[in-house]
Amino acid sequence: MKKISILIPCYNEEQSLPLLYPELVKLIDANPDYEWELMFVNDGSKDNTLTVLQQLRQQDSRVNYVDLSRNFGKEAAMLAGFDHVTGDCMVIIDADLQHPPTLIPEMIKWWEQGYDDVYAKRKSRGKESWLRKRLSLQFYKILQRSSRFEVLQNVGDFRLLDRCCINALKQLRESERYTKGMYSWIGFKKKEIEFEQGDRIAGESSWNYRQLFSFAIDGITSFTNAPLRISTVVGFVVSLCAFLYMIYVFFKAVIFGDPVQGYPTLVILILFLGGIQLLSLGIIGEYIGRIYNETKNRPDYIVREVNGEKKL
Ligand code: UDP
Ligand code: MG
Repeated sequence: MKKISILIPCYNEEQSLPLLYPELVKLIDANPDYEWELMFVNDGSKDNTLTVLQQLRQQDSRVNYVDLSRNFGKEAAMLAGFDHVTGDCMVIIDADLQHPPTLIPEMIKWWEQGYDDVYAKRKSRGKESWLRKRLSLQFYKILQRSSRFEVLQNVGDFRLLDRCCINALKQLRESERYTKGMYSWIGFKKKEIEFEQGDRIAGESSWNYRQLFSFAIDGITSFTNAPLRISTVVGFVVSLCAFLYMIYVFFKAVIFGDPVQGYPTLVILILFLGGIQLLSLGIIGEYIGRIYNETKNRPDYIVREVNGEKKL
């Protein structure tokens, strides 16, 4: 019998879990041809999520949970899940029922037909502010133009991954994780299906604009060196112009003489070049920061307990 794991990262989801669990049980009962595993990752919730998970585990041995020692973020929580699921395939789903579990049988159907990565694309983005929609659209445009592979818009973490994809993702141990890019990066046979995204069932979204901005920077810097190249090109063009201008000023001074003028030119040049240099330094700094983080080689998450058993 093939085993299917469902991975659910949870951060402050005590209200959503009692609603999600019956939905999942409904799904499992309707598909007895498979062995099922529910893998909840408690990402350092501040509410009673852990207690809820412990209770579920007591009632139902298909429920497993990994409890992280603090909030490491959804990306790291998912990696913890990748390391602990044991299924032949895995479905990643949000705890807030924004991803309908009723779509899972369709994913399984495509998986059985040989697809390794069946991902769900949102038809609409649900209730979201106009600004957030625009910003997200712009971000994908930039990422798309500057990297060599496709990072799809309106496609999130809701997907079914075959064991081979899970094992591939487990090999990517970088600490500033941008999993959405990784799904494309690892390749394998992909299939797109569509769904209508609902609104969060309980609790609130844990993303604010600052986090989304830094997530966007992570996405761009971890998958393309384009900003670095832009700074090189701009730096080159600017120094070329400055050099030509210098020659022009030199010959003008030699041929026509030079009354003491040129103060504005000087200031403009200094400011302009200074600005360009700062910009380039900033971009380089961004990458050095990443190198620094990677060289620390820290684990991406720390597990406190698995199914009640203490690790460490
Ligand atoms: N999540 C997590 N760790 C975090 C933030 C979120 O594990 O630090 C989980 C959360 O419990 C939910 C999923 O990631 O299952 C999506 O989070 P959310 O609904 O807040 O994001 P949105 O749907 O607004 O993108
Ligand atoms: Mg959500």
